[in-house]
Amino acid sequence: MMRYGQQDVTDDDIQAIVAVCNSDFLTQGPQVPKFETAVAQYVSAKHAVAVNSATAALHISCLALGLTEGDVLWTSPITFPASANCALYCRASIDFVDIDIRTYNICPIALERKLVQAELLGKLPKILVAVHMCGQPCDMASIAKLSKKYGFSVIEDASHAIGARYQSECIGSCTFSDITIFSFHPVKIITTGEGGMAVTNNTEVANKLMLLRSHGITRDPDNFTVGSEGPWYYQQVELGFNYRMNDIQAALGLSQISRLNYYIERRRELASYYNELLEGLPLVLPFQISSCLSSWHLYAIRLNLEILKVTRRQVVEELQSRGIGVNVHYIPVHTHPFYEKLGFCRGDFPIAERYYREALTIPLHVNLTSDDQLFVAAALQEVLN
Ligand SMILES: *Cc1c(COP(=O)(O)O)cnc(C)c1O
Repeated sequence: MMRYGQQDVTDDDIQAIVAVCNSDFLTQGPQVPKFETAVAQYVSAKHAVAVNSATAALHISCLALGLTEGDVLWTSPITFPASANCALYCRASIDFVDIDIRTYNICPIALERKLVQAELLGKLPKILVAVHMCGQPCDMASIAKLSKKYGFSVIEDASHAIGARYQSECIGSCTFSDITIFSFHPVKIITTGEGGMAVTNNTEVANKLMLLRSHGITRDPDNFTVGSEGPWYYQQVELGFNYRMNDIQAALGLSQISRLNYYIERRRELASYYNELLEGLPLVLPFQISSCLSSWHLYAIRLNLEILKVTRRQVVEELQSRGIGVNVHYIPVHTHPFYEKLGFCRGDFPIAERYYREALTIPLHVNLTSDDQLFVAAALQEVLN
């Protein structure tokens, strides 16, 4: 099966992992801060805090920004549920902002409209999680302007978007946000097996993130409430977690990030070849904002169902039966049974729901060949006609 996304692990990656296995540290050791520095430098952020998943990064980012009971977090319905679940981990409530049908990202106009209403009701969000869907950056300038006007914090969920650029800056520079989080799950742009990272320019937030990823325990005497009782002494000053990344993961990440520029370049080439091959089919191809550079985590197309004689389900099943691992990203979060129990209904976010009915992700990963792409395009053409 040709999968929609897949990791690229080289001999160098394997050597890096083996070297850690032969070293003194398996859990967080010297590789973790090295990987943190590499990511911080790549994206031009002051601080980076590695954790064991993007989900963990979202959770402690919300806590570090003070999200708690009685607060509200907003995000896009077109995302992986983790972007929304983080609100509920903090006992805050969740709401969504509909997407822009061109970019599949949060629509800044819908956001402003919802903020005006929320202000009247006295229910402004504390945090907005902006998801860079498929690797295409959100309209961060508009979001930042609104965040200043209405006083909410911004977390960029850049699980799809390490290596992407907004205007001339790397996603992760946090010029328009408080924190940016990345995922290193194997289908993402670079991998650590499982893993994530939060980057920020705010030193206080970074210190809080570091505390929360490891039980809320500090070993720094400057942070003790009383004098140290001896060399063994530490204090738990917050309720934290074990969200640590280990050195095996960090060594893999460090080896992978050395190929990030090549990965983005390769994904870009693959995307433009698909654009060429699929032109003229009854499809909406990915729209790209000219001032941004997508990291092309996903190549998501929309079927023009009005003129097609086949359903989306038939297209998916037919392509899968030919060994093409197409998928759909994403089921709108508010339509999951768990979220319906919270009171959300179908029809609440009509653009997201329409996008979902038409969406199809076709394979895109760095080891895909031109022949693979020709095969996918020919199969699509046949199935759609
Ligand atoms: C993958 C993903 C996550 C979760 O990442 P993990 O590292 O698996 O926890 C969160 N948000 C988005 C948009 C994702 O694609």
